[in-house]
Amino acid sequence: MKSDEFRKYAHDVVDWIADYYDNIEDYPVKSQVQPGEILQKLPASAPRWGESMESILNDFNKIIVPGITHWQNPNFHAYFPANASFPSLLAEMLTAGLATQCMIWDTSPAAAELEEQMMNWLKEMTGLPADWSGVIQDGASNATLTALLTARERKSDFQVNAKGLMQGPDYRVYCSSEAHSSVEKSVKIAGLGRSNLIKIAVDEFLAMDVDALERQILADLNQGLQPLCVVAAVGTTGTTAIDPIKKLAQLCAKYGVWLHVDAAFAGTALLLPEYRWMIEGIELADSFVFNPHKWMFTHFDCTAYFVKDSESLVKTFEILPEYLKTSSRGKVKDYRDWGIPMGRRFRALKLWFVIRSFGLEGLQEKIRHHLQLAQDFESWVEAHEDFENLVKRTLNLVCFRFHPQEIHDEKILNQLNEKLEHQINSNGDIFLTHTKIGGKYTLRMVISQTEVELRHIEKAWRTIVQTGAEVLKQG
Ligand SMILES: *Cc1c(COP(=O)(O)O)cnc(C)c1O
Repeated sequence: MKSDEFRKYAHDVVDWIADYYDNIEDYPVKSQVQPGEILQKLPASAPRWGESMESILNDFNKIIVPGITHWQNPNFHAYFPANASFPSLLAEMLTAGLATQCMIWDTSPAAAELEEQMMNWLKEMTGLPADWSGVIQDGASNATLTALLTARERKSDFQVNAKGLMQGPDYRVYCSSEAHSSVEKSVKIAGLGRSNLIKIAVDEFLAMDVDALERQILADLNQGLQPLCVVAAVGTTGTTAIDPIKKLAQLCAKYGVWLHVDAAFAGTALLLPEYRWMIEGIELADSFVFNPHKWMFTHFDCTAYFVKDSESLVKTFEILPEYLKTSSRGKVKDYRDWGIPMGRRFRALKLWFVIRSFGLEGLQEKIRHHLQLAQDFESWVEAHEDFENLVKRTLNLVCFRFHPQEIHDEKILNQLNEKLEHQINSNGDIFLTHTKIGGKYTLRMVISQTEVELRHIEKAWRTIVQTGAEVLKQG
């Protein structure tokens, strides 16, 4: 393809995208296709000869779009969001245009230095300690793995990197029973063994019980095991429960244990000074992660990982083959050495576009609006005699269920709510997902789409109440 052709199709594609956002609410939020349906429409083998862009774009519309779940639809309330925005989209277009590989400073100095400054901005915007360092990673899961590997190396004086894990003591990792599955995955990948991940009990708010953690650490020390790392959650995936960071940080300091704080979703709320209590004591911790790609209007992937001791981080990951030696080494940041992948996309650009385009106050306004809408939704649940809230709301996630007054059997309530969820999602008007709280099937209403407004959550509530009545009638 030549540039004049590219120009033409790029205009078409931009028009397509703008139309898409103008009409996004007309699409069923959750894709309605059946398993295998898309696969069956795709030829079994690659084309021998090049095809026209018309034909490719045509098939995009016909085959691909029906199999898309529309994450940017303001009626999407499932999981946690991967919200986006036009400023971020523009930056992603430029990133794709530049197509740089930003593994080290030399491979694009602007990418490295913009990344450094964006991490500095985010530190200040979220109230993280000024002397920590930040790096952009692809996901919170990888950041947590990075933290565990760094903790492992620092604890072993870099001997595991040198000799492997075979002879050392058993390292123990702790998180609450509500922590994200990426903690377990990281423990497995880091070679620590799943049986060395201890899930600590939670209190009535589903936050980690610090006394139970200390008892476990003492018991482990007694057995000659080596406490390595605590992964605390600020905003668990199930219910956005907040582990008590200050108490955990003091405990970790006392026992020389690395404290990693996973605020993948909730970290964005730290842009509001009134939510900084969530990380009180953070200066005693060792690392912190949050995802601008979840709730901060920045396209996936963009994870901000911050660490107190960047020297240990770099010492854990650095490699220096001959073909990557540069004269700038030591004077600049080579982010290849700040995590697992060597190759890196230019991800700082979209953050720069988002933060400058919204401004701090613009971001704060949107986030406050989402929190207000969540409070509204929670009050509707509260006021309805056949619905109930199942945990106290901390942020913009409402955990609730359908509970018709005449039904008392927990098993029947679970079946009813599962059926309700499936029926809601299969008609495509809104999309929400579930968790379980103390065995109770719980619907999760997340209110954090970039363009979500009161009318969307009113529609969601109407849909939920109506579908509830229908499901009850079906028996
Ligand atoms: C979403 C989430 C993760 C995983 O984030 P990725 O960026 O998808 O790896 C980790 N922890 C928590 C608490 C999350 O909500």
